[in-house]
Amino acid sequence: MKRRTSKQERKQIAKKHINELIDFSLNKKYPLLYRKKALNLAKRISLKFKVNSKFIDRYLLCKKCGEILIPGKNISIRLNKKRIVYKCFNCGHINRFQYK
Ligand SMILES: [Zn+2]
Repeated sequence: MKRRTSKQERKQIAKKHINELIDFSLNKKYPLLYRKKALNLAKRISLKFKVNSKFIDRYLLCKKCGEILIPGKNISIRLNKKRIVYKCFNCGHINRFQYK
C-alpha cells in the first residue's frame, strides 16, 4: 500500500502536535500530572518523526528522570562562565548549556 502523506508533511503534522502539547504543558490551569504526560508524549513524537526537540530537552523536561521543570520549585538555575546551569532537585542531574 502506498502512503498518502509525504515525509515532509508528516514532519509538519508532528511539529504542529508538539507545539500544541507544549502549549498545554505550559498552561498552569491543568494538573501537573497531565502536563508531564503531555510533554513526555511530545518528546516521543519528536523522536519518532525526527523533529528537533531542543526546546523540550533544555527548558521543559529533565533529561535523566523526565520530570517537568518548574523554576524555583524543583530546579535551580545559576549562571556560571557564560553558561546556564540547571540542577534537578529530583535526581540531582546537572544540565549546562551556553547562552548568548
Ligand atoms: Zn531529574
